[in-house]
Amino acid sequence: MVQPPFYLSIAVPVPLPKVFDYLPLPQTDLSDYQAGLRVRIPFGGQTLIGTIVDIPQHSDVPLGKAKPINELIDSKPLLPQDLFRLGHWISEYYHQPLGECFDLLWPVLLRKGQSAETSLSRFWQRSTRLTSTSESITDVMASLSRAPRQQALYEQLEEGTLYAPKQIADWGYTPSVIQGLSTKELIDAVDKPSFEPTKGRNEAPPRELNQEQADALEMIRRHNAFQTYLLDGVTGSGKTEVYLQAIAPVIERGQQALVLVPEIGLTPQTIRRFSQRFDADILVLHSGLNPRERLDAWLCALNAKGERGQIIIGTRSAVFTPLPHLGIIVIDEEHDASFKQQEGVRYHGRDVAVVRGKQRNIPVILGSATPSLDSLHNALNQKYQHLKLTERAGDAQSTRLKIFNLKKQPQDQGLATALVADIKATLAREEQVLVFVNRRGFAPTLYCPDCGWMAECKRCDAKMTTHQKPPYLHCHHCDTKQALPRQCPNCMSQHIQPVGAGTERLEHFLEQQFPACPVIRVDRDSTANKHAMEALLKPVFTGEPCILVGTQMLAKGHHFPNVTLVITINVDSGFFSADFRAMEKTAQLLLQVTGRAGREAKAGTAIIQTEFAEHPMLSLLVREPYSALASALLQERKERQLPPFTFQVLVRADSHRPQEAEHFLHVVRQQLHQRLISTGYAGVTFLGPLPSPMELKAGRFRSQLWINSQNRTVLHRFLNQSLTDLYQLKGFHRIRWSIDVDPTENV
Ligand code: ADP
Ligand code: ZN
Ligand code: ZN
Repeated sequence: MVQPPFYLSIAVPVPLPKVFDYLPLPQTDLSDYQAGLRVRIPFGGQTLIGTIVDIPQHSDVPLGKAKPINELIDSKPLLPQDLFRLGHWISEYYHQPLGECFDLLWPVLLRKGQSAETSLSRFWQRSTRLTSTSESITDVMASLSRAPRQQALYEQLEEGTLYAPKQIADWGYTPSVIQGLSTKELIDAVDKPSFEPTKGRNEAPPRELNQEQADALEMIRRHNAFQTYLLDGVTGSGKTEVYLQAIAPVIERGQQALVLVPEIGLTPQTIRRFSQRFDADILVLHSGLNPRERLDAWLCALNAKGERGQIIIGTRSAVFTPLPHLGIIVIDEEHDASFKQQEGVRYHGRDVAVVRGKQRNIPVILGSATPSLDSLHNALNQKYQHLKLTERAGDAQSTRLKIFNLKKQPQDQGLATALVADIKATLAREEQVLVFVNRRGFAPTLYCPDCGWMAECKRCDAKMTTHQKPPYLHCHHCDTKQALPRQCPNCMSQHIQPVGAGTERLEHFLEQQFPACPVIRVDRDSTANKHAMEALLKPVFTGEPCILVGTQMLAKGHHFPNVTLVITINVDSGFFSADFRAMEKTAQLLLQVTGRAGREAKAGTAIIQTEFAEHPMLSLLVREPYSALASALLQERKERQLPPFTFQVLVRADSHRPQEAEHFLHVVRQQLHQRLISTGYAGVTFLGPLPSPMELKAGRFRSQLWINSQNRTVLHRFLNQSLTDLYQLKGFHRIRWSIDVDPTENV
């Protein structure tokens, strides 16, 4: 039977807001094609991989012009229906090209067109032939007498054990020795999937919950359907214990639980808590996986049978894991900035997780000691159910939070002398200290007191950071590095000096003050390689007196049982930033760092060293629970009509030439304004173009245009109709631009 003509609408990963119609391969029929299959297509002189999203009978491309695809890669769709729909949702909500959104869903290797097969690794074992014949080991040895290497290897292999070729090679045998034994059928090859999930064991029994925890759990379990819960509990209040017990029935049913954690929260400690509780498979999706491992883990989740429970723990992008038996989603530290992707398709992992939960009709738990104002607002509006844990669980003492007023106080290298005495006293009690400074390097600037020169980056509106281990100047915004000058390049003065304190400077200073005590610096420089963090932190977990100095890498995920004094310095800039979210972020950071102290039986003290001790928000933070500060900040947002009381979309543009991006955004604004008038939408306003807070970055001049509305639906309908215009603007080929829906950073 002759098929009527049909087309394939294909989502192609290119920055254009449409799908592309192709013809099927000759001599194939309709039944070979389905939405969700990957295809290889000719595209503007290249070959690209795309995903079939529709099979229409008509196309705007005339039949004579339409090209056939090159290859149909899959024979059955790999993406489960819900993920396929999620790709469309992301594209619509974030106003990004569908093809680029589908690329988020595919692991890298599938994006490149590889087949979706689990990789196998070869192992060798002693052949089982001996047990079934009358041959004895002595006979075998005798038969190998003229092949002494084979004989030696055979002898070394234990019955019933699998050996990787690498291990055999490490013993000093060449592949020909293995080959020889294999030809003689004395050893057998065994191929096993290379990727094995971690096997969890239920060795840590559930704890008996306190009343607040029990109430929270009861609410979550009460109806087993979609509902977002905001588990708002102070540090150490036992949120993780609630997650674990909420997950338990899901695992018992053989389903999957998705646990999202911040980038720096994916610590071995976190993984251990999940793997010690459940007899389940644990899949950890972290940035250290290579593309092969990532695909194997992806396939392992996709192919789950729904018989043995699976826990998928990962950072932001794990929200796109295919999970046919998904039963619950947990997002730990839901306020954390790392859940928002800041490039390409700028999705928010937490918000996408909530959408997934709704699609699948399952509970979603957002946990935090310092919930985002966005989530708190949703809780206050009853969109999320608010569950509170106000007390520390178990025996842990809560931490006393204090302000240290730096005004008129003697200080050395950025640290008040009185606080150095506190450190000394803490160490004398055999306890540990954490000094938090949100700047890596030795000092944030290099300064000439004779002429006022400062080391500035030529490619950014920013100062260069002085590093001393090893010595160089480094721009943390564009990565430019320079040798450290010995004299002022402007007036040749010899008096140039680093100003301000970073982690290296404090480390150096504290080492001098406390020569007998280990000082451990934790920042991006000291933990550059993969396992450095764990190695560095070893002494901390032995409990011996020591001082930790570090950036916000220390603020999350880790529990330091013997840290009883936390000092934070240099967070003042957060109180006066142009970014309206700065105070929220600073408060969250301060409480997260503070929460590292006194997690066990010993009480902890956290001290905020500041020049602005009278700042009203700071005193609120210290005197009252976080919720008081959060309501004050929400009130302020309401008065100023800022998110979450209004919805924002940020159009960013940049160019190598000054004013060019700004000009582009002027044209964009005009165009959008025209649209607004012609479509008759009301309540959408524009702000800008404005220079970005750091206008010059990495050699590019940057500008912003804000689009605001009190009504999310109106805003999105309007954008649906108008944003495609932007792709058609002519004469701006040097401009890079992007759209950020619900932006979280004013950069
Ligand atoms: P959070 O996730 O809120 O920071 P955790 O779940 O890590 O809190 O709990 C903090 C500490 O208290 C952990 O050592 C945990 O084992 C313990 N804990 C939690 N719930 C209880 C409970 N109900 N009884 C006793 N100890 C508990
Ligand atoms: Zn000078
Ligand atoms: Zn720079």
